[in-house]
Amino acid sequence: MAPNSNTTSTTVRPDHFLDTSGALDAVWIKHVPYSAIPTFPKLDRDMETDVLIIGSGIAGISTAYELVRKGVNVTMIEARHMIGGETGRTSGHLSSDLDDGYTEIAKKHGKEGAKLAAESHDWAAKRVGQISKELNIECEYRQLKGYNVSQYLHGTKEHDKDMESMKEDVEAAREAGLDASYQAGFAVPGWDGQVDQRDALVFENQATFHPTKYLVGVLEWLKKQNNFQAFSGTRAVSIKEKGVTVPVVDVHIGPRDTVVKTEDGHTITAAHTVEATCVPLQRLSLIAEMEYQRTYCIAIRIPKGVVEDCLLYDSAEAYKYVRMTECDDKDDYMVVGGCDHAVGQENAWDERYNELEEWTRKRFTKAGAVDYKWSGQIFEPVDFMAYIGQNSGMQKVYVVTGDSGNGLTHGVLAGKLLSDMITGQPNPWEKLYDPRRRGKSIAKSLPHMLEHDVQINMQYKRFAENDINDIEDLGRDKGGVLNSKTNKPLAVYRDENGKVHTLSAICPHMKGVVCWNDSEKSWDCPVHGSRFSKDGKQVMGPANVGMHPADQSEMKTGFQQ
Ligand SMILES: Cc1cc2nc3c(=O)[nH]c(=O)nc-3n(C[C@H](O)[C@H](O)[C@H](O)COP(=O)(O)OP(=O)(O)OC[C@H]3O[C@@H](n4cnc5c(N)ncnc54)[C@H](O)[C@@H]3O)c2cc1C
Repeated sequence: MAPNSNTTSTTVRPDHFLDTSGALDAVWIKHVPYSAIPTFPKLDRDMETDVLIIGSGIAGISTAYELVRKGVNVTMIEARHMIGGETGRTSGHLSSDLDDGYTEIAKKHGKEGAKLAAESHDWAAKRVGQISKELNIECEYRQLKGYNVSQYLHGTKEHDKDMESMKEDVEAAREAGLDASYQAGFAVPGWDGQVDQRDALVFENQATFHPTKYLVGVLEWLKKQNNFQAFSGTRAVSIKEKGVTVPVVDVHIGPRDTVVKTEDGHTITAAHTVEATCVPLQRLSLIAEMEYQRTYCIAIRIPKGVVEDCLLYDSAEAYKYVRMTECDDKDDYMVVGGCDHAVGQENAWDERYNELEEWTRKRFTKAGAVDYKWSGQIFEPVDFMAYIGQNSGMQKVYVVTGDSGNGLTHGVLAGKLLSDMITGQPNPWEKLYDPRRRGKSIAKSLPHMLEHDVQINMQYKRFAENDINDIEDLGRDKGGVLNSKTNKPLAVYRDENGKVHTLSAICPHMKGVVCWNDSEKSWDCPVHGSRFSKDGKQVMGPANVGMHPADQSEMKTGFQQ
């Protein structure tokens, strides 16, 4: 597909949502088109395997790689096409300079926890380099510096205040074992615009790569291994562990095999199952402990060599983030992201892309054309650490979720942690990432969790809201919720040819009312972030089925565990 010229007028192929989870394409397709992603058959029988991995993003592929290297028999299933989830829409920073800052991380997890967080993300950033070297994958992997700057102008009170907390963060990062320093007066080479945000917190040994070049390389290697097989177009609809576990005392009675049912009615029996589905496919528990955000990116041309190749972040809550990637002989792309907001709760898409572009042009005056614009979904656990390990009440079913802005390194380190757990090797990171942690870090987050719960519950107000008063109000390739004469709201979409399609607007996960995302041409649920293509197919959990036909809105479905 040609670069995205604007954000709302893409005509999307019918199976586009199998390749990626939004209508707009990320910059990565410039060098790795969807047609270059390895394909696998659909599962057409019942089967048994040692380890079943559900999901083919960075978490699933990294876990498969580590296990296959250890000689374990691994099967991977993917509901859509390989690497069609958020990994294909990422911005590609591999950082130990974690988004939430080591001062805050140490407050929730103690200094020891902060050290383990630093160590594990540093390991992950380097692991991608090792693997790409071992497998000879040309994926633009390199180590570089990460710079954190104030969002405020140099010389203002706000800037000085920011610097004080950044200095604290440097100390906390150093205590956690990272090579970080504060450099007064530092400006990124190539930042030649009028806006002066000098002074920076500098992290050494950060890394970046081209995510799909890397994962295609790993998948191609996996495809050649005798102890690996994969199936795409194969959706898991239920996961059960044989026997019974009494969660509070964690006593298990009976055998421990896991049994996964697919949408087509096949059964996969595995000694262990890993849910690497980005968001676990369940009703509550972890789902309720995360916040769901939409984040935006642009890829803007910059003449080669003009700006230092680095990672850059500012201090805003919805911060801007920057990295470079290859474009052509003349230019590189600067990938600039940010402007996050809660899923389904705002709709000023063009304003966000304009803000990113203006922000860039004011700072980097040599910036040229914007060739790609896209958005994706991220997840914030209340205590900043991903959930990686055994799922609640289970011993042989594992989850990986809660990227917290660092989902790539979380995915890579999940490969190590889960492969160690599955093969019975101790791993010092286990406690920090334990999905069942209910200790101090969660307790310390209680006020925030309550606020979050109230905010989530307020989203049910959409039962009383109307996006359109009449179907005739809808333009072509537009959608909206019609809620006038019935308490069963309708999701109405008028296609490019003017034909109207109607579905139930009630999300099959927890019955939120979906919102139309006109930029990505999807239906997004503001309650727990489930997403559906314009024709109602599920593209992101926790819902695990598509939207229901208009007359079945009260049907009870969802993922069963
Ligand atoms: C715009 C953007 C920028 C980002 N920037 C960064 C960054 O710079 N650094 C960083 O560390 N992180 C970043 N992130 C976060 C990071 O990209 C993600 O957290 C990470 O890629 C998620 O990987 P994953 O493997 O967990 O999930 P995914 O890549 O989403 O893969 C999950 C897969 O599971 C499949 N699946 C779902 N349900 C089923 C089912 N029932 N059966 C079978 N298969 C199923 C899906 O189809 C999907 O392919 C960014 C995210 C976005 C959106």
